[in-house]
Amino acid sequence: MFTADTTTVGFIGLGNMGSGMAKNLQEHGYQLVVNDVRQDAAQSLLSHGALWADTAEQVAQHSDVVITMLPTPRHVAAVAMGEGGILSGLKSGGYWVDMSTSVPEVAQRAREAADSSVHIVDAPVSGMSVGAQAGRLQVFVGAEQAEFETLRPVFEAMGDPEKILRVGYAGAGYAVKLMINQLWFSHLVATTEVLAVGVKAGVDLEVLRQSLINSPASSNFVENDVLSVLEHSDYDEGFAIALACKDLGLSIDLARSVGVPVELSSLVEQIYRRAKSQYGDSAGEMTPIKLYEDLIGLELRTT
Ligand code: NAD
Repeated sequence: MFTADTTTVGFIGLGNMGSGMAKNLQEHGYQLVVNDVRQDAAQSLLSHGALWADTAEQVAQHSDVVITMLPTPRHVAAVAMGEGGILSGLKSGGYWVDMSTSVPEVAQRAREAADSSVHIVDAPVSGMSVGAQAGRLQVFVGAEQAEFETLRPVFEAMGDPEKILRVGYAGAGYAVKLMINQLWFSHLVATTEVLAVGVKAGVDLEVLRQSLINSPASSNFVENDVLSVLEHSDYDEGFAIALACKDLGLSIDLARSVGVPVELSSLVEQIYRRAKSQYGDSAGEMTPIKLYEDLIGLELRTT
């Protein structure tokens, strides 16, 4: 098992998610070797004892496990398989764990290119940047059972032990994560649509929300997550809508690759893309709610 006293963890991608995840590994006692295209993103980790490496290859040379937390499959492929990438530095028996929301295809290509002694695992997460900071992420792991057990202490430093799940073999983690996001984004659009119509029809917003909660149509989204906007005007800029659109595109690609028509998912993707073009790439993942607010000419707020 990769316990803190004997394991060096390499961490590449110190953005909204990776910064919190790396901080929690460090607080659990793991020696870190870090890299990001923005060196200033590593400042706080370096001041607490992490080591800097100039390339992904160097990160891998000095680590037992390399974690990537990067925006898109294109970034993941470049960092893993490009020149000076992880695969050229990974030790025999070493682990590369991609925790980005990505696709099985990249990891599969890496597996074909890599030495057979290295381990390549997908372990994407849910829980937003707040969960990453708090060490309360859900982790969906695609790996052999033995690989999962070896990595468990590393995952437990970043996630809720009850919600660290092995969901299948390589690639299964990516698929589960994409389906979770697809359903959550669909909940967001469907819920906002009925709230906007109900309010426009004269019903008080909170009365409508409580009625939905107490009905067979309830969901975690209407009960909890929508409150971010309704109570705090927070559209979650910790997860940029550009990345949400990337996830929706990957989810639809996955559906296409397995031959399942997904009319509803495609519509949700288009609504997200409209919000992205209207409010900008860095607007929060909940910004599609704004589209409906603009349509009805009022903000959906309970206070
Ligand atoms: P982000 O854009 O905030 O962070 C990405 C980091 O990667 C940045 O610091 C960037 O500088 C760095 N980077 C980009 N290219 C690089 C390269 N070639 N080498 C080294 N570093 C590089 O993104 P994020 O919000 O942290 O999301 C990361 C991943 O996690 C994405 O796949 C996203 O879909 C997924 N995710 C995000 C959330 C969320 O709430 N933000 C939740 C779950 C999953």
